[in-house]
Amino acid sequence: MISLAEAQSYEYATGPELFHLCQQAAYERDAFWGKQITYSKKVFLPLTNMCRDACGYCTFVQDPASPTANYMTPEDVLNVARQGEALQCKEALFSLGERPEEKHQKAREWLAELGYKHTLDYLHDQCDAVLTQTSLLPHINAGALSYQELKYLKPVAASMGMMLETTSTELLKKGQAHYACPDKTPKRRLDTIEQAGKLDIAFTTGLLIGIGESWADRINSLIAIRERHLTYGHIQEVIIQNFRAKAGTLMAGFQEPSLDDMKRTIAVARLILPSEISIQAPPNLEEEYASYIRAGINDLGGISPLTKDFINPERAWPQIDSVTQACQTVGCSLAERLTIYPDFLQQNTRYLSPKLWQKVSAFTKSAGVESLPTFEVISPESISEMIPRGAA
Ligand code: SF4
Repeated sequence: MISLAEAQSYEYATGPELFHLCQQAAYERDAFWGKQITYSKKVFLPLTNMCRDACGYCTFVQDPASPTANYMTPEDVLNVARQGEALQCKEALFSLGERPEEKHQKAREWLAELGYKHTLDYLHDQCDAVLTQTSLLPHINAGALSYQELKYLKPVAASMGMMLETTSTELLKKGQAHYACPDKTPKRRLDTIEQAGKLDIAFTTGLLIGIGESWADRINSLIAIRERHLTYGHIQEVIIQNFRAKAGTLMAGFQEPSLDDMKRTIAVARLILPSEISIQAPPNLEEEYASYIRAGINDLGGISPLTKDFINPERAWPQIDSVTQACQTVGCSLAERLTIYPDFLQQNTRYLSPKLWQKVSAFTKSAGVESLPTFEVISPESISEMIPRGAA
């Protein structure tokens, strides 16, 4: 673990200094995680693309007046989940806008047609349906939630997540990324992480890089995550995600972070966070997988053979065989993991409801694995058979 002063000194690290920083991070990664890079095979379920927030970089959110604004129906949810099941997916990622019914009449009407008043009630029941009627494990990404809301959702999700993004309050000001976003205050995001810790929820969080935050903000954000993990032990992974400038958004003209900026942030995250926290960088946002691995990541996140990345639809999911090859060029192998990480599985029903625990046990038995963790090492040959080329 590096000191605050040392972390701050790497703001402009490049050339040999960046190379050595990445080497140090990769060494830390190898010491705990070995040479195995993981990913989760998933389907993406955007339960609703309406939201009460208005992030300056978001193209996922749709105005209720737009013909593309929607709630997935229960039939849509099960249809996608079953198709994913047929392709051996194991994770159902429920990702959705935050509380649209609190801002939009149209969302309230839509929910009423579905028989609900609140999106979170609908989410709960759709997770339960997937859990009960398919083999997939739900992972919930529903934004900032209270203690009671997290407690309500825990029995129907194997893990949950919410990007902290940043601890900077500057970004709440007019013209900045998080202006008019009541759910993006650092206080609210940090409180969600803390409440998840009190409830023993295996939790994913992360930083969004290049949205106007400073280097010091990134260090502060990593330290805030570390502090909560040291108190509760529940952070299973931290995502370092690069901002992409998208046409039609407030931030369309903003500069995207460079590869060096991503590398130094990944490396510093690896060195600030406790070793047992998985460091992930999304594979569909950057072709330089090998560079990320050399900078200390041990996970590539969710990869879908079926559904596109609705958050970044312009970025195709990578072919898993090309990721496998990238891993091999840096002396690593690629392996599939579940949405909940092995350390959390090994604690029986502390992190999982009994229903979920039974289901996860079924996965391990069907994979012929006697004890957890249940990793399935994928060969390039078998992957190219499983993943339809051009799937996006
Ligand atoms: S990024 Fe999330 S919270 Fe922000 S507008 Fe988009 S859906 Fe809403």
